[in-house]
Amino acid sequence: MNYYPSAVRVDCPHYDERINDSDVSLLVIHNISLPPEEFGGDGIRGLFTGTLDISAHSFYAQLKGVKVSAHCVIYRDGQIEQYVPFSHRAWHAGLSSFQGVSRCNDYSIGIELEGTDTLAYTAAQYDALVELTCFIRKAYPRITLGRIVGHNDIAPGRKTDPGIAFDWAYFRQQVNRNI
Ligand SMILES: [Zn+2]
Repeated sequence: MNYYPSAVRVDCPHYDERINDSDVSLLVIHNISLPPEEFGGDGIRGLFTGTLDISAHSFYAQLKGVKVSAHCVIYRDGQIEQYVPFSHRAWHAGLSSFQGVSRCNDYSIGIELEGTDTLAYTAAQYDALVELTCFIRKAYPRITLGRIVGHNDIAPGRKTDPGIAFDWAYFRQQVNRNI
């Protein structure tokens, strides 16, 4: 299954073929908010679809020409958008490495939570993330609990998301219960 049935699909030009679909074995959790620390706008959608109006906010100037994406975005209300089919390579990890294997985009699925490192995520986001994670793990059983990581884990020193606000213990417990 390349798409999550509960997600709203959004056309996105920022992805390409995986070298091998059977390599998918890592789930990476991120956060993003655009403008920073503002929620509910269409900045994330604009960035991932290559349509961000860089004149709309002073912060956006540094995003000019940036081509990034994630497979899914989970908004504060738990709504999910899917930008890239799981079978394909989204551009979310950047320079990265997990257990000695670099280029995490090649073999991972990336999920963005609308949020910041320090503000608590919503209950609706945890519920949506748990359900989505369980769906993905059924399709890609190589994604064991130990292979669900934060962006900070695969790009230490460069990235901090999903940040101290993300409750890994609660999330893992909920995923375990739903297997
Ligand atoms: Zn990230």
